[in-house]
Amino acid sequence: MKNYKCNVDSLYEHFSSLLGTNEKIAFEIKRFVNLSSYSTFHVGGECPLMLLPTNSESLTLIISYLNEKHIRYLILGNGSNILFDDEGYDGVIVLLGKSFGKIELIDEDVIRAYAGAQLVTVCNTALSESLSGLEFAYGIPGTVGGAVFMNAGAYGGEMKDVVLSVTAIDDNGCLHTYKADELDMGYRHSRFSDSGEVVIYADFKLYKDEKLDIQNRMNDFMTRRKEKQPLSFPSAGSTFKRPEGQFAGKLIQDCGLRGASVGGAQVSEKHCGFIINKGGATSADVKSLIKKVQDTVLSQTGFMLECEVRIIPFRE
Ligand SMILES: Cc1cc2nc3c(=O)[nH]c(=O)nc-3n(C[C@H](O)[C@H](O)[C@H](O)COP(=O)(O)OP(=O)(O)OC[C@H]3O[C@@H](n4cnc5c(N)ncnc54)[C@H](O)[C@@H]3O)c2cc1C
Repeated sequence: MKNYKCNVDSLYEHFSSLLGTNEKIAFEIKRFVNLSSYSTFHVGGECPLMLLPTNSESLTLIISYLNEKHIRYLILGNGSNILFDDEGYDGVIVLLGKSFGKIELIDEDVIRAYAGAQLVTVCNTALSESLSGLEFAYGIPGTVGGAVFMNAGAYGGEMKDVVLSVTAIDDNGCLHTYKADELDMGYRHSRFSDSGEVVIYADFKLYKDEKLDIQNRMNDFMTRRKEKQPLSFPSAGSTFKRPEGQFAGKLIQDCGLRGASVGGAQVSEKHCGFIINKGGATSADVKSLIKKVQDTVLSQTGFMLECEVRIIPFRE
């Protein structure tokens, strides 16, 4: 077993002992989890402890304890914008998945979706209520928490356009509700990218429209994704942010890097903005290909490509 900085046994005991103490405290505990199964890149080593809360009370309890004890943790949604290390993650992963995914209509045109809700499910809920605004997000393979964290966007839309407010907890477990203008949402950025607060739920302000029109827009965006993106290979979507006035994929292609590879990692031949796992890629392969692409593009064009994918080191 690896020598982890966090005391895995005592953490396991602590969290196990909390279960059943109160009917509101509900979470699953997993030990020695292979992170490659929790990242759409299918890359990464092991983490010693994963906690999967099913409600806000449990999440609050977990987060305040981990902060109080200065234990490193990472909030994980679908792992579709993450690159784990081959060594794994020396800390606790708090996974907000389907069991933290309630979606409800709280007003005739407002949907509340919890952090673990899948965007595709939120979009389908909006469709069933004849509510428009979220079509752009159909096909982004993330959760509400991950999408708000990085202001996910596509096809001219972004979370910023539809988020009415977000409720989150801070390091001490205190709840805060932020209105749209307090969210500091910009290109692939929100206040949560800096603050370390954990998104619990977001309220989306939508508008009534014809169901058929909404469905057609969703289908159109999905068709475009299937045509343009290498969806049959594991990846984390666009590897790099868009440099101002440019497209990362075009710059990479113009530098002759289409299909360039390191080990099992490859610049997609279908879409140069995606680095894919062609089979058996390690995290080291992906990182060294990222560096190769950045160095080549910088030297040939003067543009420094910034990573959109979050690279998570084994230790800080
Ligand atoms: C094939 C493919 C296509 C994609 N297309 C797009 C696209 O069109 N547009 C786009 O913007 N992105 C796209 N992505 C990237 C990704 O799907 C989005 O960034 C998505 O919003 C990430 O959500 P997630 O739940 O997977 O987040 P994760 O990858 O699990 O986490 C990403 C970050 O968010 C943080 N986080 C997650 N949940 C919370 C929370 N509740 N509170 C606080 N922080 C949290 C994590 O700590 C991490 O730092 C694509 C990815 C793939 C694989």
